[in-house]
Amino acid sequence: MRVLVLSRNASLYSTSRIVLAARARGHDVSIIDPLDFQIVVSRGGPSVLVAGAPVPRFDIVIPRIGSSITNYGLAVVRQFDLMGVPVLNGAVSIARSRDKLRALQLLTRRKLDVPTTVCARSPAGAEAALDLVGGCPAIVKLQQGTQGIGTMIAETPQAVHSLLETFWAMGQDIVLQEYIRESKGRDLRVIVVGGRVVACMRRIAKPGEFRSNLHRGGTGGAARLTRADRSVAIKATKAMGLEVAGVDMLEAKSGPKILEINSSPGLEGVERATGVDVAGAIITYAETYAATHGRISRRT
Ligand code: ADP
Ligand code: GLU
Repeated sequence: MRVLVLSRNASLYSTSRIVLAARARGHDVSIIDPLDFQIVVSRGGPSVLVAGAPVPRFDIVIPRIGSSITNYGLAVVRQFDLMGVPVLNGAVSIARSRDKLRALQLLTRRKLDVPTTVCARSPAGAEAALDLVGGCPAIVKLQQGTQGIGTMIAETPQAVHSLLETFWAMGQDIVLQEYIRESKGRDLRVIVVGGRVVACMRRIAKPGEFRSNLHRGGTGGAARLTRADRSVAIKATKAMGLEVAGVDMLEAKSGPKILEINSSPGLEGVERATGVDVAGAIITYAETYAATHGRISRRT
């Protein structure tokens, strides 16, 4: 197949693993920075150019769109979709997963469990919001945060109010969330590919930190999932319409509670922690997906 990996940096661990896995299986791989595309919208049909020149017809596009270029990146993904090229993951699903509130809304519609979350935009409702999430400590999150940046814990109502005021004044959308105390700085990162769990790690925050993100100094180890965890991770991925996902869940007393779903899950931590060839699993699935969702180009 002709595989296009959309990535700003070919030397990133995840990008290079996906490229190597695809080449190892005999595919022809191009890596192009989404910002290098010109998107041509005209009645004659959608197309894309790179430095003004046409690109070959790809059989599958694997987007690895960083959060700093979500809008332009998604426009490129959407364009390939319009051109009839299978994309793994689609633009709508990526956009859903990037907005924490939107993602939680979709998950609860499917009756999946999440920490109670309240979104407010004016001081009048702030006190009621804090009560709804069980009081302090409470979690305050930027709706578009990533890598743990933008996720804060507030120990007192005063701290909650000053965080809300500060972010509202800055025009930032935020949510207030129930703090799941028993998760104790741990969470599960479950990688789902094509409706199957392919790997899972438990992340543990560094001492004194409640966020278990590897980017925040957390460590990852292989974890076994209960049947309930597995089913929740798969349903959550389906609810977002994602084909490839990293589902983050807290292990609460009442069962798994979903925090968020990453559409470009990092592979380094989970491959190192579990020894699973996640990149290989993504490419194997891409082959099936391209065969069922597009036209495989016959090379002559
Ligand atoms: P990001 O998208 O930036 O990773 P998250 O919402 O996933 O942000 O939060 C980062 C980390 O903070 C999580 O991995 C988890 O360890 C911790 N955390 C987030 N929300 C809660 C919560 N409601 N209760 C307990 N811990 C939480
Ligand atoms: N993009 C990263 C990932 O999906 C962010 C999460 C983290 O820091 O662990 O793995």
